Amino acid sequence: MQWKCWYNTDAMNLARQIEQYIPRQLLELVRDISGQAAKQGQRVYLVGGVVRDLLLGDPSLRSGPRFDLDLVVEGDAVKLAQQVAETSQAKLLAHHRFGTAKLRYDNFTLDLATARKETYAKPGALPTVTPGTLKDDLVRRDFSINAMAISLALNDYGKLVDPYQGKNDLEHRRIRILHPESFSDDATRILRAVRYEQRLCFELEAQTVELLKRDIPMLDTISGDRIRHELELILKEKRPEFVIKRLAGLGVLPRISPSLKGNGWIAEKFDRARRLKKPAQLPSLYFCLLIYSFSERGIEQFLARFNISAKLSRAMRDTLRLKTKLSLLDKSSLKPSEIYYLLREYEPVAIQANAIASEPSMAHRHLQLFLTKLRYVRTPLDGEELKRLGISAGPEMGKVLQVLHKAKLDGEVRTKADEKKLALSLAPKLKWQGR
Ligand code: ATP
Ligand code: MG
Repeated sequence: MQWKCWYNTDAMNLARQIEQYIPRQLLELVRDISGQAAKQGQRVYLVGGVVRDLLLGDPSLRSGPRFDLDLVVEGDAVKLAQQVAETSQAKLLAHHRFGTAKLRYDNFTLDLATARKETYAKPGALPTVTPGTLKDDLVRRDFSINAMAISLALNDYGKLVDPYQGKNDLEHRRIRILHPESFSDDATRILRAVRYEQRLCFELEAQTVELLKRDIPMLDTISGDRIRHELELILKEKRPEFVIKRLAGLGVLPRISPSLKGNGWIAEKFDRARRLKKPAQLPSLYFCLLIYSFSERGIEQFLARFNISAKLSRAMRDTLRLKTKLSLLDKSSLKPSEIYYLLREYEPVAIQANAIASEPSMAHRHLQLFLTKLRYVRTPLDGEELKRLGISAGPEMGKVLQVLHKAKLDGEVRTKADEKKLALSLAPKLKWQGR
């Protein structure tokens, strides 16, 4: 990967990069916010990922279709956001308790947070939060490369604030935590560290790796929802298999679930999934592939531990259920309608996962046929037209529609006229059978 880095420039003022990379409309808004804050003696900073990515010189690193920015306010973020919302089109979502507010615009989101100090009562618990300085706010962050800020105040607009040598770590391409208890305070950082390491082609700094390994058991202190959220973030990365492989190498994966594997099989299948599906559809497909070698008990434990949504749970269970039925599909004599009726009860993503996971075979071909063709087959005759042919609504019509659909799947009817003929030929028989 080629990086165009800014960090060798002497003056650490990033005004030019801000102008270059942040969309104009968003920038005007950010300046307006900063101006309003200044009137009340408050200061506003850009923080977190955007600072890191500006220094790396690659705005495309701001993932997703929306451009989201994090701002820290030395003052009262909620009050400031309320004022801004009154004079703009933004939708405001305020959390008074946490001193944070979200301003949602059509194409971007601004997260404003009051600069805060955090203390952890016990590992894995949510922290106790009190107002603090920018430096307090930066030291509570996960890694040095995410613990930098850029001033938006008029008198030092663009100035980099880097109290924990984040820029130096960017130069040396390393992920480093800010204090030895960082992973035990919040073990989701274990997953985050590896995600950034693999995304940016960096390396975990030596002591960070040691502490990460020491604190792997602390993952047990994290709620299922928070770990699932981190897994979802991993699966939204461009190459999640790198992250999974590295987690396996570090011994993290079994702590998440003993059956999870980070081997070459996953890498190959994820790669195939990417060639078939759009990015938005990938995470659920990846989840189904991740659990492909799980036992029934393993999957139930996984679904419960991570509080997986009902829809995704259904897809993941279907994946394994279908896997045990693949032999039924492995016959060349199957008619298209038989394939259709064998597969229609499964979630499409589960069928897709099986198509990707299975080796070339008749079953594989039938799965593909269903996905690319059979599931879209419809009969041109609908209920209204059948009524006009004298077929009454109710079970009779249901039967006719089913026979028509089957005939269409098997290529026995091609035109609308063929279908009408078949429908009329069925109607008297059905009447006769029904009486
Ligand atoms: P990405 O490009 O992945 O969105 P990001 O840096 O914007 O990167 P977010 O998850 O949006 O990451 O979080 C914003 C910032 O909040 C991070 O840069 C980091 O400073 C801080 N942060 C997020 N999660 C944690 C955590 N678990 N512990 C400490 N700080 C965190
Ligand atoms: Mg972010």
